[in-house]
Amino acid sequence: MVIMMKLNSPKEDLEEVIKKIHSRGCKHHEIWGTEKLAIGVTGQTAALSEEEFLIMNSVEGVYRVSKPYKLVSREVKSEDTVINIGGKLIGGEELTIIAGPCSIESRQQIFDIAGELKEMGVKFLRAGAYKPRSSPYSFQGLKEKGLEYLSEVKKELGMMIVTEAKDTSTLPAISELADIIQIGARNMQNFSLLEAVGELSNVILLKRGLAATIEDLLMSAEYILSQGNYNVILCERGIRTFETYTRNTLDLNAIPVVKKNSHLPIIVDPSHGIGIWDKVPAMAMAAVACGADGIMIEVHNHPESALSDGFQSLTPKNFKALLNKLEQLAPIVNKKVDVNVAIA
Ligand code: PEP
Ligand code: MN
Repeated sequence: MVIMMKLNSPKEDLEEVIKKIHSRGCKHHEIWGTEKLAIGVTGQTAALSEEEFLIMNSVEGVYRVSKPYKLVSREVKSEDTVINIGGKLIGGEELTIIAGPCSIESRQQIFDIAGELKEMGVKFLRAGAYKPRSSPYSFQGLKEKGLEYLSEVKKELGMMIVTEAKDTSTLPAISELADIIQIGARNMQNFSLLEAVGELSNVILLKRGLAATIEDLLMSAEYILSQGNYNVILCERGIRTFETYTRNTLDLNAIPVVKKNSHLPIIVDPSHGIGIWDKVPAMAMAAVACGADGIMIEVHNHPESALSDGFQSLTPKNFKALLNKLEQLAPIVNKKVDVNVAIA
């Protein structure tokens, strides 16, 4: 259920509504828009009646949300969510660029790549310390050591960090360091992890599962919002299909469909989506063309010797060429991209 209130409602009116919600054993969520305040009500809402809220001061409307996801839906908030991280915006007119290696491999490796990306004006550095690999014999990440290197990079270069939380036991350390906590495709339906990140204040990047529908993705996001963390970015990263010439099938259909059904920002990871480095730029451009709020790209100085995902990683030089093209494309889709690469 969603209760619409005037933005400038007196504090007491809002408190009365919240008190009533709690007295009926339900939870409230304040979703502030620019024109209205929506109070999302979750829990056993079937026992509540619209009328008991409609008679309250400053309440303008009470609606039942028809979708299985509520707080993430456009029915609750019609305008796009724009997330502010340290003054940088994600969503709205902003085209966010997140780049970096799949994994942190050494201090030197992460500093070298981060240094080149920073020079190009990239604000968000991605790199995994805990890697969820399909094979237990593949490189599992540098773990604590990796976080240590990332924290040095953060301090020295002032970049914002995107890194994956693989489980709840390592979550506190990741939460302390990361500006954006990534929940990987394989964990998209790890509901205890989703609930745990829902209690944090970090921004969460939720990747679509390998065999998850768009509705599954939105319901997983709902787990996070239902715990009180409304700063969620969705990420399309390709799904499994019968196709074998590409690593996954990048489902760009998801972008306009998510935009219709949810107010949350959605970015695209074409690196995992197609899995072949020289095809990544084409899919990154396509993602921006169809309305993505950003892209996340794997970049490595020596893709041929990378410990994970080298085959889909761009060199800094190729990544720079892509940024150049994105700068030209962005205004056509009413987006701004904040990077420092001169248009050739
Ligand atoms: C990654 O971003 O390196 C990663 C492991 O992604 P995914 O969870 O989408 O496979
Ligand atoms: Mn990877």
